Amino acid sequence: MSALELPFLKNIGLMLTYKCTTACPHCIVKAGPHRTEEVLIKNAVNWIEQAATYRAGHIKGLALTGGEPFYNLDLLRRISDFGDELGMVVSVVSNAFWATSKPAAVQVLTSVPAIRMISLSTDVYHQKTISFDHVVNAIEAAEECGLSYSVAVCTDRIDDIEYKKTLTKLSKIIDEDKIRISIAFPVGRAEKLLKDSNYDTSSEPCVSACTMGSSPIIFPDGNVFACIGPVLTLKNKHPLLLGNVYEEPLETILDRAESNLLLHAIRIWGPRKLVAALKKEGYSNLLPDEYIEDCVCDACYKLMSNDRILDCLINISEDTDFIEKVAYGRVYFLNESRMAKTFIADGILTAEQ
Ligand code: SF4
Ligand code: SF4
Repeated sequence: MSALELPFLKNIGLMLTYKCTTACPHCIVKAGPHRTEEVLIKNAVNWIEQAATYRAGHIKGLALTGGEPFYNLDLLRRISDFGDELGMVVSVVSNAFWATSKPAAVQVLTSVPAIRMISLSTDVYHQKTISFDHVVNAIEAAEECGLSYSVAVCTDRIDDIEYKKTLTKLSKIIDEDKIRISIAFPVGRAEKLLKDSNYDTSSEPCVSACTMGSSPIIFPDGNVFACIGPVLTLKNKHPLLLGNVYEEPLETILDRAESNLLLHAIRIWGPRKLVAALKKEGYSNLLPDEYIEDCVCDACYKLMSNDRILDCLINISEDTDFIEKVAYGRVYFLNESRMAKTFIADGILTAEQ
C-alpha cells in the first residue's frame, strides 16, 4: 500500500461496473466478462452531484473503478465528463487491456479527456491474460497525454519470484514512487486461489495505519463503503459499511462517517488499536489467533466479520477516553480538527481535554 494518506473525504470513489475483460483469480469483487451489473448513468450523475456539492465542494477527487471502467468507454466518457464539469479531479483504475500499442492507447486516452490520473494494474494474476507490454504502452500513452499515473502491483508473498520480476521490470521504466504494492487477500475470487496459500502469519496484527480509509466508494447497488478493501465483501452490517444512497442522502452518510470513531481509529493507528482496546477490556478470548503478516486489512476484516467483536467495539467506542483519543488523534496525527470541534460543540468533549 502507498504510504500516502489522503485527507478524509477529499476523494470519493464510484464503482462503475462489475464487468471486466478478464477474470483475475485474485479479484475480490469477482469481476469478469460474465457480470452484468453496471451503474446507471442517471444514478451516477445524481450521486456525483451530491458528492460535488457536499460541504460546498469539500470533495475534490472522483475515483472511477470497477471491474474494468474502460469496458464501457461511452459510460466512462459521460461520467468522467460530468465529474470534470462539476470541478472534480477525475481518476480511473484500469487493467490496460485497451493499450494494444502506444498509438492505440493514446487514441483511447484522448477519447476520455476529463480523466487526469490513471492507476494501471499489473502483476502475476493480471499477466495471465494481459501482457506487461500493455501496461508499458499505457504508461507511454499517459506520459504523452500529460496524465499522472501509477501502477498497482498485487502479490500474496513479497518474496515471490514472479512478483519481484514485475517490480524489476517496472523500476526500469518508472520511478519507484509510482509503484503501489498491495497484498492479495483471500476473499472474493481470491478465496479459492489463496485458500492454501502459504502466508506468513503473526500472533499480533500488522503495525501500520490504514492509508485507504479516507475515500469512501459508492457501489452500483447504492452501498457506500469506507474503503475498497476486503470488508466490502462482508455480508453483515459493520461500521465500515457507511450507508446506502438509495436509503438516505449521501450528505447524511458522509456526515455520519465523519464521526465514525472506529473508522478513524483504524485510519490513525490501524486495526491493531482496536485489537489492543479489546484486549484491555478483557475480550482476548474473542480475538483471532493469528493475522496475515504485513497485511493491515487482515485484522480489520477479521474484526468486522465477527458480530460479537463488533458489539464489544461499539461499547468501547462509546467510552469517553476512546472518543477523546480518536478525536485528538485526528488533530495530532492527521491534522483533522472537525471531529474534535464538533464533539466539543455537542458537549461530548470539553475544550480542556
Ligand atoms: S482484478 Fe481488475 S482486471 Fe482483474 S478481474 Fe478484477 S477488476 Fe478485472
Ligand atoms: S484496513 Fe480496513 S479500512 Fe483500511 S483499507 Fe483495509 S479493510 Fe479498509
